[in-house]
Amino acid sequence: MTKTKILDCPCGNTQQYANCCGRYLDNAEMAATAEILMRSRYTAYTRYREDYLLATWHPDTRPAKLDLAAQPRNQWQGLTVKHHDQPTVDQATVEFVARYKINGRAYRLHEISRFVREAGQWFYIDGALLEN
Ligand SMILES: [Zn+2]
Repeated sequence: MTKTKILDCPCGNTQQYANCCGRYLDNAEMAATAEILMRSRYTAYTRYREDYLLATWHPDTRPAKLDLAAQPRNQWQGLTVKHHDQPTVDQATVEFVARYKINGRAYRLHEISRFVREAGQWFYIDGALLEN
């Protein structure tokens, strides 16, 4: 089967954006799992959707603003979700690797993110960076 790579969602799922993360970024659907929320937040970074990133960040740990436009422009290269763990119904962690380039140099972000669900909505809490 031929893959139309250009139409795939930035989060790495082989679905079009509108049927994948676009449901959450543009149509205000609630992500059913922390992994789905994590993928949608990665896609939000690729699209400089600071509004979505802040809205899905738990109020206890949320920064006042992100200033994505003021930072070096990451060219996001892809996302790999390594592990999704949900020890309780409203708590989860997601381990992932995100690859990006700045000025042509390649970087790798390996993180375990923590998520909590409140009133049906998953929120990002914080993340621990892992040495590669
Ligand atoms: Zn997606």
